[in-house]
Amino acid sequence: MAFKKTTQKVDINKRKIINGEDADVVQLYPIKHTFAWEAYNAANANHWLPTEISMQNDIEEWKSTKVLSHDERTALKIVLGFFTTADSIAANNIVLGFYRHITSPECRLYLLRQGYEEAIHTHSYQYIVESLRLNESEIFNMYRENQAIYNKDAFILSFNEGILNPHFKTGTVESDQKFLENIIIASIIMEGIFFYSSFAVMFGFQRQNKLMGSAEQIQYIMRDESMHLNFGINLVNTIKEEQPELWSKEFQSHAIDLIKTGVELECTFATEVFPKGIFGLNADNFRQYIQHIADRRLARIGLSEQYRSPNPFPWMSEAIDLNKEKNFFETRVIEYQTGGTLEW
Ligand code: FE
Repeated sequence: MAFKKTTQKVDINKRKIINGEDADVVQLYPIKHTFAWEAYNAANANHWLPTEISMQNDIEEWKSTKVLSHDERTALKIVLGFFTTADSIAANNIVLGFYRHITSPECRLYLLRQGYEEAIHTHSYQYIVESLRLNESEIFNMYRENQAIYNKDAFILSFNEGILNPHFKTGTVESDQKFLENIIIASIIMEGIFFYSSFAVMFGFQRQNKLMGSAEQIQYIMRDESMHLNFGINLVNTIKEEQPELWSKEFQSHAIDLIKTGVELECTFATEVFPKGIFGLNADNFRQYIQHIADRRLARIGLSEQYRSPNPFPWMSEAIDLNKEKNFFETRVIEYQTGGTLEW
């Protein structure tokens, strides 16, 4: 795009999520995609850092032979093994993929914040690993050793690579559908489904009053991730409005197939890593839960529900699905908002 000297102002009607006019510099105003501006402000208000959370009790519990069973220790390690990869894949996708092709300045502004949050999440796993003195290379290399984690990551990366390719450009129906497919892969499946059995396990610890410091960090991460998912859903729905030709019947059934494949990969992950179940949650519970949340994601982007499974973990909906992003951790939000107005 040529950068020329002109008094002609940006035309908001030409602003689009992809293939818009204003890709050279960020002229934030006039804001068209208000969902992105709202997400950016909400994310700032939710700011947190892992090192603010005390890990002292977790350290004692991990050292003790009486608090955690062998299966619980294994579960924590596998969950961390998956999480460490998920957030770095997400970060690469944002910085090397989404940011290059999304032309809405307000969406790009949120993506900058989202990328930082993925870094905070990776920091959080490092902080847990270091506090508990886990074997770092065991956790961080697990995605290459554990088949179920490998399969989930390989699935995401096989689609990701298309838009991360330096020669990839939006602008044709085929390439725009490829980009849309990648939002479904990265936001709906990765951030909206692949995190969730692991979130359930961490909530399991919390419900047993164990590893509360680690669980609290994952709770903050869950709050961030539910916003990332929401943003991804808004991207999909806005692109559908701006370029309705992309949302063909064929593409819709392709999107359903992708989400169904994601559900199977997540169910396999949950049954393989928790073969005997954990905290009284068995493989069937995990399957129902994953199908239940997949239906919710499908409905949010206007696709038909595929499973109609009941929600076996209602305590998860209370914690995550109620859209409490803005007031979930009220005290901390207020602390940061006050921090922002300090006199320097
Ligand atoms: Fe994310």
